[in-house]
Amino acid sequence: MISPVDGASLGAVAGAGVRDVDAVVSRAAGAFEGWRKVAPGDRGRLLRRFAAEVDAHLEELARLEVRNAGHTIGNARWEAGNVRDVLDYYAGAPERLTGRQIPVPGGLDVTFHEPLGVVGVIVPWNFPMPIAGWGFAPALAAGNTVVLKPAELTPLTALRLAELALDAGLPEGVFTVLPGRGAVVGERFVTHPAVRKICFTGSTEVGTRIMAGCAEQVKRVTLELGGKSANIVFADADLAKAAATAPSSVFDNAGQDCCARSRILVQRQVYDRFLELLEPAVRAFRVEDPALETAEMGPLISAAHRDRVGGYVDGADVAFTGSRPDGPGFWYPPTVLLAGSPADRHWREEIFGPVVSVLPFDDEADAIRLANDTEYGLSGSIWTRDVGRAVRVARAVEAGNLSVNSHSSVRYWTPFGGMKRSGLGRELGPDALHAFTDVKNVFIGTEE
Ligand code: NAD
Repeated sequence: MISPVDGASLGAVAGAGVRDVDAVVSRAAGAFEGWRKVAPGDRGRLLRRFAAEVDAHLEELARLEVRNAGHTIGNARWEAGNVRDVLDYYAGAPERLTGRQIPVPGGLDVTFHEPLGVVGVIVPWNFPMPIAGWGFAPALAAGNTVVLKPAELTPLTALRLAELALDAGLPEGVFTVLPGRGAVVGERFVTHPAVRKICFTGSTEVGTRIMAGCAEQVKRVTLELGGKSANIVFADADLAKAAATAPSSVFDNAGQDCCARSRILVQRQVYDRFLELLEPAVRAFRVEDPALETAEMGPLISAAHRDRVGGYVDGADVAFTGSRPDGPGFWYPPTVLLAGSPADRHWREEIFGPVVSVLPFDDEADAIRLANDTEYGLSGSIWTRDVGRAVRVARAVEAGNLSVNSHSSVRYWTPFGGMKRSGLGRELGPDALHAFTDVKNVFIGTEE
């Protein structure tokens, strides 16, 4: 493990092999038989205790993420708090996971939401804690057991969460964290017949392979994949607010955010004015040691990723950049690129770094066409004071999560997920629970 903050070694974590996966899945399958029968109220109480353990160790978890992933301390606290909140939210679910009674002739018909069994949760390195929680909290609440594979670069907080689950009293085998390589542990989740669902977050490339692999066993799958989200600024918008908030909407987490608003579309008549307002906000964005309370952005996850990001900027039309510290660590400055046309590589591909491309548009139809001219469809923002336009554009843009006059993407009460090649299925909110169950219908004949 290398800290992206200063390149220092954080120690080594053993990677599981296929036989380890088989042993852990078989233990999780055994634990499922007990966990599914735990009374709903008791299951909820255990999840609440798990949430309380996370809360009691929030600062420790946050500081671990600062070192391991280079997240700012403010963000890392939010991330650990999000795991707590999501556990608390779904702790109320077991007692409310009700089926239906359907009127049919000749008897009584009822439905049940049955848990699936062992769920394999596969997590990327960009938000190791929250994304794990969005998978394991509803899965456990619905009565499944979970085996979680963290990303190779960021396993530390997930391992700590597994310890906290045991401290909270979750029975052995109900929630297990198994670090290892995607091609070994992740692929074995896909082929193992006792793993009944894969909940995957990561790149579109790997997600596509996982879906193909799951097809063989008709294994359930949820995919949260890449993005290239549009931030659409109309001429009638509050330009000062749109420009002041644009940097955090893409440079937060050093741009390593699937929801990053990495394409800014600005209506032509305010294009120059918007860039004038954007420049000081980008230059003022604080890129510094992420352990400092003032930090707004830390380093990128690895040297290789920093170099990949830089490859998109080399030869592109750079409007302006922010600052970055000198010294060791995988730093890259916030960077604003001018797109010559929507064919530019930096406009089309997910860079997953602190780089944003800007392009002018003419009218509403043009904005919608440009926003949808991408294989992705995860998030986006619309800035306008015209309510009718806000609704029209929000309905027309092909993305799973849109915000108007805001950059908010993730709220655990509401569904989150992508359209097109950004994913399949939804996480969070009340409906995510059903993605971890199968509906069973039972008919009881009442005729004499
Ligand atoms: P990645 O696809 O390389 O890896 C994600 C996880 O999959 C890791 O744990 C990895 O070990 C595992 N994996 C790799 N190969 C595998 C295989 N063959 N079988 C099973 N598992 C395998 O992604 P990454 O580089 O860690 O994360 C960045 C990507 O994640 C970006 O594209 C980003 O947009 C996406 N992402 C999406 C969301 C969302 O909610 N839509 C959220 C965060 C990140």
